[in-house]
Amino acid sequence: MIMASNHRLIVIPPPLQGHMTPMLQLATILYSKGFSITVVHTKFNSPDPTNHPDFTFVPFHDGLPDSYTVSSKNFIHISSHLNTNCVTPLKEVLVRIIKEEKISCVIYDGLMHFIDSVARELNLPTILFRTTCATNYLSYHWLSLLQRNGYLPLQDSSMEMVEGLEPLRFKDLPIFNLGESATDIMVKQVTESLSVKPSLGVIFNTIEFLESSSLQKLRKLYKVGVFSIGPLHMCMASSETQEKNNNCSTSLMKEDYSCITWLNEQEPCSVLYVSLGSIASWEEKELIEVAYGLTNSEQRFLWVIRPETIESIPEEVKSATRKKGRIVTWAPQREVLAHRAVGGFWSHCGWNSTLESMCFGVPMMCQPCFGDQRVNARLVSNVWKVGIECSEMRIKRDEVEGAVRRMMVSEEGKLMREKAGLMKDKIKISVRDNDALNGIVHAIVVSSSNSSA
Ligand code: UDP
Repeated sequence: MIMASNHRLIVIPPPLQGHMTPMLQLATILYSKGFSITVVHTKFNSPDPTNHPDFTFVPFHDGLPDSYTVSSKNFIHISSHLNTNCVTPLKEVLVRIIKEEKISCVIYDGLMHFIDSVARELNLPTILFRTTCATNYLSYHWLSLLQRNGYLPLQDSSMEMVEGLEPLRFKDLPIFNLGESATDIMVKQVTESLSVKPSLGVIFNTIEFLESSSLQKLRKLYKVGVFSIGPLHMCMASSETQEKNNNCSTSLMKEDYSCITWLNEQEPCSVLYVSLGSIASWEEKELIEVAYGLTNSEQRFLWVIRPETIESIPEEVKSATRKKGRIVTWAPQREVLAHRAVGGFWSHCGWNSTLESMCFGVPMMCQPCFGDQRVNARLVSNVWKVGIECSEMRIKRDEVEGAVRRMMVSEEGKLMREKAGLMKDKIKISVRDNDALNGIVHAIVVSSSNSSA
């Protein structure tokens, strides 16, 4: 096995929870292989260094106000802002670091594609890290082709299959329902992000057996190694570092552990966990319908409503939910999904949530909101068959009640829980047998030795 002591890596996560978490997990795994880690990060939404005492943290100026809250309305603009305005601040920080120490590689997230050219200018080897599923990136290639041929914006509700991307339908493509200008910005960003040329490889937080066909196609598209090394939280759990350092939370918000005490009191598989992740949210009217739908279903539920949204729920609605459920503003999600009381996950199908749910054998009610969530939801419900498609469900209390019962107490839901259990076992085996990590370590160490020779 190759070890990498005396090699320092720079990892640069974007300030979004769903991207920060996998980057810090990847860094933890690489640290367990002997690399030293410097996390270069924005000041906005910065990670907590006390959770990673073995890493060095260096901020760069991003120009975003501290008071900013990430939402589905602005997050495309955040990444566009970073790509446009952070070239000089990042370059200054990197120059300072390389004056003091040799850097073996910069690992950056495709959302901040500007990093590729900054690192190239400084002669630093790079690895591109893709934090969504491989199929999503394949559909990005397809979208940029459509744009070049003048077919955007799409009629995004079509159930028709996309040729070459089956079983994705047009409605499953990673579009953001934010009007034409946001779609334009997104496709422009995607096109730019597809044109980057990392020197050492591309890492996907995915599982080979789940996406082998998409990964094969991507391997033909990229001129460098494509490594699938997910699910990272599982690889991290089996790395030595985790045992020594059990405080490596990657959460940007404080997790409310009281819900675990509540889960301890519930029957096995009796609780539906409800969360739309860190960006998507229901509107006030919808929240009320969800609250009554959940309550009327008579099932137990644990519902995450983020602090910026919880204020909009009237007190009488909150008190109605208390009979059967529990609301928290942020949960320790992996502990929740691992809990024996949890029997279903009503999810927006963010990629991290999807992987976490599958790893813990929890079937999903798939209700994607935008972007890659649509792709993930389609794969979960139609290909991997560990979730119920709810993308057409209207947020009305009767429909919510019906879908919750379907997930928690129907024969179909029970079968899905069994399938999800089998999926969990298959994933465990694939993590045990995956040697992509050695490939990544090898690529970095060899490139670094060649450059010193
Ligand atoms: N998460 C969490 N507590 C919560 C809700 C979410 O820790 O109450 C974590 C979750 O475990 C996942 C991440 O936040 O790792 C959300 O990422 P995902 O890709 O699922 O969705 P996004 O937030 O990017 O839309």
